[in-house]
Amino acid sequence: MFNRTKIVATIGPASSSKEVLRDLINAGVDVCRLNFSHGAYDDHAKVVSTIHELNVELDTHVAILVDLQGPKLRIGEVEENTVLEEGKEIEFTTEKCIGNASKVYITYQEFPQDVKKGERIMVDDGKLLLEIISTDGVKKVIARVVQGGQLSSKKGVNLPNTAISLPCLTEKDLSDLKFALEQNVQWIGLSFVRSATDIIELKHLIRQQGEKSPRIIAKIEKPEAISDIDDIIKEADGLMVARGDLGVEIPMQNVPLLQKMIVKKCLQASKPVIIATQMMESMISCSTPTRAEVSDVANAVMDGTDAVMLSGETSVGKFPVRVVETMQKIITVIENDEDIYYKHFLSCSKDPRRYISDHICSNACTMAQQVNAKAIITLTHSGYTALMLSSKRPKAPIFVFTDNRSLVSKLSLVWGIRGFYYNRQISTDHTIDDIKYMLKKKGYINEGDLVIFIASVPMTEKGKTNMLKLSHA
Ligand code: ATP
Ligand code: MG
Ligand code: MG
Repeated sequence: MFNRTKIVATIGPASSSKEVLRDLINAGVDVCRLNFSHGAYDDHAKVVSTIHELNVELDTHVAILVDLQGPKLRIGEVEENTVLEEGKEIEFTTEKCIGNASKVYITYQEFPQDVKKGERIMVDDGKLLLEIISTDGVKKVIARVVQGGQLSSKKGVNLPNTAISLPCLTEKDLSDLKFALEQNVQWIGLSFVRSATDIIELKHLIRQQGEKSPRIIAKIEKPEAISDIDDIIKEADGLMVARGDLGVEIPMQNVPLLQKMIVKKCLQASKPVIIATQMMESMISCSTPTRAEVSDVANAVMDGTDAVMLSGETSVGKFPVRVVETMQKIITVIENDEDIYYKHFLSCSKDPRRYISDHICSNACTMAQQVNAKAIITLTHSGYTALMLSSKRPKAPIFVFTDNRSLVSKLSLVWGIRGFYYNRQISTDHTIDDIKYMLKKKGYINEGDLVIFIASVPMTEKGKTNMLKLSHA
C-alpha cells in the first residue's frame, strides 16, 4: 500500500528540475530538504514553487524541510579537482579567495585566534584530517595534511580540540530564516544545537516574524546536545540524528548506540525523528548500494525511525531517482515483516490534560491489533492525536483528517500517516460515513474492512479526543 517509514531527500543540482522532482515523488519521497548551507535563494525558491505545482498535479502533500547551517565552519569555493596530498602544507585564510591545494578560505573569522599549534582540523565529515603547524593569530593558519583526498567547495570543517565562540544562529541563519518563512515551509532544521535554549530562541524568532509557524527539527550533532537530549526533545517538534558531524564531534563508534537511544526517546515523547547521513552514500556514484548500506537503512526502519534521509545521494549524485527507488524497496521488505509493529507499546501519560486523549489513542492501537483493523482514522486540528497514534507504531495505517491545511504537509514526515484536508461541518455520523466513502474511493480500504475511528465529540467543539468507534467500512 504505502510505506510507513518516510523518505527525506535533499534537493540540489542533480534533482531540482521538475522532471526529476516528479520522478522522486513518484518513487516515494515524502519530504524535500533544502540545505541552506548550499545553493542560492533563487534556486531554492524555484524548487519550493515546483514542489507546490507537483503537489497539485500529483495530489500529494510533499513537505519542505529547510536546514539552517547554524554555527558550522566551512571552507569556501575551491577549484575543481583539488586534491590534498598527505604531508603537504596548506594555508587557511580568513580572506575570501577561490581555494586550491595550497590555500583555502575558511568562513570563520576568529579561526586564527581560536586555534593552537597541534590541534586538528577535520574537513568533509572527517574524511580529510589536518594538523595545525602555526597561526598568526589574525588571518592565517598553516596546517599539514595528515589524511588527504579530494576537496570540493564549501565542505564542513570540524575542530574537535577547539572551543569555538559562535552563536547558535549566525547572521546568515537569520536572513535564511526570514527567507524560509517567506517561502512558507513546513519544517525548519537547526544545525549544531547545543541546548534546549537554542530551540527556544529559534521559536521566539519565528513568533516575532509573523503568524506562520513551521515546526522545528533539532539536528543532533554535538556532544553538548547529547547531554541535554531530554530537554531538547521536549522543546523541539522533531529530531534529526545528523550522523556526519556527530561522528566527527564524538568517536564514530559511539554513534550507533546514540542513534538507537534517540529513536527510542523520540518514540516515547511522540516526536518524529530522522536518521541522516551516508545511508546510501556509495550511490552518489554507483548504481547499487553496498550491502552494509542496505542493512543500515533496514536497521533504522526496524528501530522505528520516522524517516530515513538522503543527502548527497539525491542532491549531487548520479542516480537520484534510483537511490530513492532502492531505499523504498528496502523499506517495503522490512515493513512486510509483522515483527516491527506495535512493539514500542508504552504506558500512557498520567497528565490529566492528556489522560483521555492518550488512552483513546493507545486503545485504538491495541484494538486495531486485536481485530486486525485495516485503518485507524482520526480527526485532529493540532495534530496531537496523529503523533500519539503514530508513536505506538500500529500495523493499521493511520489516516488523518484535518481542517488545518499546513498540518497535512507537516505530517508527511511522520511515520505511518497519510493526511487529508477536511473541512465539512456535518454531524459525527455523517462525517464517519463521508470519510469511509472517501477512503474506499481512493482504494485505501475495502467494503467490509474493520476500521477504527477516533475523534472529539461533539465535533464542533474541537475538544479532546474522547470517542472511539469500531465499524465495518
Ligand atoms: P550538513 O552538515 O547540513 O549535512 P553537508 O555539507 O554535509 O551539510 P548535505 O546536505 O549532507 O550537506 O549534502 C551533501 C553534499 O551535497 C554537500 O556537501 C554539497 O556538496 C552537496 N549539496 C547539497 N545541497 C546542494 C545544493 N543545493 N547545491 C549544491 N550542492 C549541494
Ligand atoms: Mg551536519
Ligand atoms: Mg551532510
